[in-house]
Amino acid sequence: MVRETKLYDILGVSPDATDAQLKKAYRVGALKNHPDKNPSPEAAETFKGMSHAYEVLSDPQKREIYDQYGEEGLNGGGAGPGGMGEDIFSQFFGGMFPGGGQPTGPQRGKDIKHSISCTLEELYKGRTAKLALNKTVLCKECDGKGGKNVKKCSACNGQGLRFVTRQIGPMIQRAQVRCDVCNGEGDIISGADRCKACSGKKITNERKILEVNIERGMRHGQKVVFSGESDQAPDVIPGDVIFVVDEKPHKDFSRKGDDLYYEAKIDLLTALAGGELAIKHISGEYLKITIIPGEVISPGSVKVIVGKGMPVRKSSSYGNLYVKFEIDFPPKNFTTAENLQLLEQVLPARTPVSIPADAEVDEVVLADVDPTQQQRQGGRGGQSYDSDDEEQGGQGVQCASQ
Ligand SMILES: [Zn+2]
Ligand SMILES: [Zn+2]
Repeated sequence: MVRETKLYDILGVSPDATDAQLKKAYRVGALKNHPDKNPSPEAAETFKGMSHAYEVLSDPQKREIYDQYGEEGLNGGGAGPGGMGEDIFSQFFGGMFPGGGQPTGPQRGKDIKHSISCTLEELYKGRTAKLALNKTVLCKECDGKGGKNVKKCSACNGQGLRFVTRQIGPMIQRAQVRCDVCNGEGDIISGADRCKACSGKKITNERKILEVNIERGMRHGQKVVFSGESDQAPDVIPGDVIFVVDEKPHKDFSRKGDDLYYEAKIDLLTALAGGELAIKHISGEYLKITIIPGEVISPGSVKVIVGKGMPVRKSSSYGNLYVKFEIDFPPKNFTTAENLQLLEQVLPARTPVSIPADAEVDEVVLADVDPTQQQRQGGRGGQSYDSDDEEQGGQGVQCASQ
């Protein structure tokens, strides 16, 4: 007496069906509902369900567990119904639909991913990197068969793995173990017929040199794909070898898309009265910039040099270069009192202080800030000091921190 009949019902057979009847029911149903024959989602579900049902019922051990414990007994063991369809289908029919492209979910090998470290200079000019790849390939001596007169192991149906079940008290334990008939190889090859080049493993190791073409203008995270160059194995479509650009940070420039950013430090005289500035560019050339007298570059201001950014990939145009200015002020007591008097004639007049006439006024003193002292007192860094002075309008701290 079986516990449940769901899987039998899916195949449309009775629980006492023979192996031949199961096989026939699956053959007819799976062919009708295969995604290549019938693209509707319902058919795909039916196909999956039938494949799962057949996968269970065609395995005497699994069928026994199912009959005794129902689907619950099968859980925790092999794969569930998802994704199983094609494997069992191709085992059953072999290459049934040649030329129709691979149906859904063929076995595909893993991709191999490598990051390829590039400097900004290299990404500016582009470069070719030669990289050695160690991979497995199908043995050329035996064409990946493992030898002559290779027979599929019938004990494990060529899978190299078998399911075993043990009952421990009320618990049914299922485990996948290596097939002991074929030693987990899935094939039976007699000693003399075994390929000497691969010792029957069907694959050998190979070292291959790949030329990776890093195009000018490539960005961090972009990929160079060698399709199908990953490890080869029997009955597996090799995955891709993928190189991912890893842009190294640059000491002077940063990059956003195709634009470059640079921080330039100029002295106060140049900022006010003009002068020259040179930037060593990513391209290797020097950019000479003239600051026009009277232009006045204020601290933190940003200017753009059009067309001096990174090259745009697969194009002859370039991004822009943005230059942010930092002004190097002269040191303390850099000149005489008389000269400072001269500045009064040159610079715009001071902004007058504004204190309401009725306000209480406290005359305070500006002192230099000792950063170590600050940390010990507040237990907080300089940043929290900025927020403090916003709240209190503490003029002294604001000046000192600039
Ligand atoms: Zn071989
Ligand atoms: Zn076996």
